[in-house]
Amino acid sequence: MRRKLAAGNWKMNGLTASLGELQSLASAHPDPLVDILVCPPATLVSAAAQCCATLPIAIGGQDCHAERAGAHTGDISAEMLKDSGACAAILGHSERREHHGETSDMVRAKARAAHAAGLIAVICMGESLAQRDAANTLDIIAAQLALSIPDTSTAENLVIAYEPIWAIGTGKVPTPAQIGEVHDFIRTRLERRFGPGVGRGVRILYGGSVKPDNADTIFRVPNVDGALVGGASLRAEDFSPIIHALS
Ligand code: 13P
Repeated sequence: MRRKLAAGNWKMNGLTASLGELQSLASAHPDPLVDILVCPPATLVSAAAQCCATLPIAIGGQDCHAERAGAHTGDISAEMLKDSGACAAILGHSERREHHGETSDMVRAKARAAHAAGLIAVICMGESLAQRDAANTLDIIAAQLALSIPDTSTAENLVIAYEPIWAIGTGKVPTPAQIGEVHDFIRTRLERRFGPGVGRGVRILYGGSVKPDNADTIFRVPNVDGALVGGASLRAEDFSPIIHALS
């Protein structure tokens, strides 16, 4: 049985004062029935991990470099994230694919580095609106799956987030049937590649405009094992009802 996961991606938001939101979240969920992961900006990972050391909230990063160390100004290695108290890293988010030219090959290398460092790789994928309108969604997902997911993946160290680009930050959400089609497709491909044990154990999250008022509907879709939440993860009062809906 896959344990549900409510993951928050703070993106480039949050200052030291925002750590109070983690305290509020933990107060609202002292003994959660689901896993809770919050990925703040790199500047807050260490402080957030310390703040959550005794709370049921895990902390993750939002990216990592594919190499362990070296001359890469401004970059952070998976080992550094782990050393800061992170247990996971979001990789291949469409904002990084788009704004930083990350290819699926690069994402796979980063994921391999994350696994080597003992991190869970939360690997994101999703189609643009033009790709959906051209009925290419499943082809895009198939290619991103094949190239972004490393062979080092297990049911424990891999989480996939299906995030249609057109649903991110727009308030637009696919229909339950559209979400279900992609999640079922990802599940089938994972089972085919890794076998039923790993394939059925990997959690598949939906991401893109998840809010308290649509979470219930999204979480009823089969093969949706949780959410990767952007804007609504920044404040405990918004994230908390989403966690409740998943519980
Ligand atoms: P929003 O929830 O703000 O649409 O962002 C989704 C996302 O990109 C999470 O990674």
